[in-house]
Amino acid sequence: MTVCAETIHQLTIPTPFLVGPVHVYLICGKSLTLFDTGPLTGEGRKELIKQLNQLGYEVEDIDQVILSHHHPDHIGLASLFKHATMIGHRYLKPWIEKDQQFFRKYEQYLRQLYIENGLPIELLSKIEKSSAAYINYIEATELDIVVKHGDEVPGLPGWKVIEVPGHSQNHIMIIREQDQIAIGADVLLATISSNALLEAPMTGEERPRTLLQYRDSLRLVKSLKVKLLMTGHGDMVHNVDQLVDQRLRGHLERAKAIKELISSEKMTAHEISYRLFKEKHRKQPDLTFSETFGHLDLLLESGQIEVLKEGSFFYFKNE
Ligand SMILES: [Zn+2]
Repeated sequence: MTVCAETIHQLTIPTPFLVGPVHVYLICGKSLTLFDTGPLTGEGRKELIKQLNQLGYEVEDIDQVILSHHHPDHIGLASLFKHATMIGHRYLKPWIEKDQQFFRKYEQYLRQLYIENGLPIELLSKIEKSSAAYINYIEATELDIVVKHGDEVPGLPGWKVIEVPGHSQNHIMIIREQDQIAIGADVLLATISSNALLEAPMTGEERPRTLLQYRDSLRLVKSLKVKLLMTGHGDMVHNVDQLVDQRLRGHLERAKAIKELISSEKMTAHEISYRLFKEKHRKQPDLTFSETFGHLDLLLESGQIEVLKEGSFFYFKNE
């Protein structure tokens, strides 16, 4: 057990991904806690160890690791701390443990969804290749403690777990109630808008409407009256309320643009993505498709467009 005044240190770890470096946090509390780890790369490992050493700690000193969500830039190096207690959401389990059966089912679901929404086979295989490569930036380890919304963070009295699904189904953040300082990973970023990524359902057959979930999570974050949000990428956020409103407005504006683009012509989600993103849709179809699908969900929910199935394809139509 580590005895010291509770301080929070920000460590910045390089990633090979477009998003750039990731921030992970060392909380020197009742238990010496690491929040996220960085990706499984040689450079990431070296930097993480170096920055821990600069603060006076060895890898073995870490008592527990809180994993914000399953994306490799956040949790890839968790296995470096096999001796420590791993803490995360229940839906994180198959990802961090790299459950192959789960991956196969998950991929199958998404494949069907992409095909039914018009994605050509060459873009589909591009997505599948990049997801397979992406997962290699995580080394499997076991999840020891499952936490849920409202729990006190184990080993960190005064800190609470908040579930914020949307960017990922298993996303959690933590907040120190005494001063409303929160560590939010990707829930809200200062300069880029966090993508509500398309995901297969974790239970049942119903696909999670990730942008709708994400919007609920943003409203929840706003209601927490966070004074300072320590983020996973870029600057910290002081003006959480204002930024949440800006992001919520941004979704509505993009949805409106998509609605106009559909006009009276029926289109597949792939066609909409291509019109919206042009070449970017060919280069990063997973991101553009998620973005489009999320906003289509938003328009469907408010009854502004309709979806119909013709043959084996889904079409969206402006009413
Ligand atoms: Zn993420």
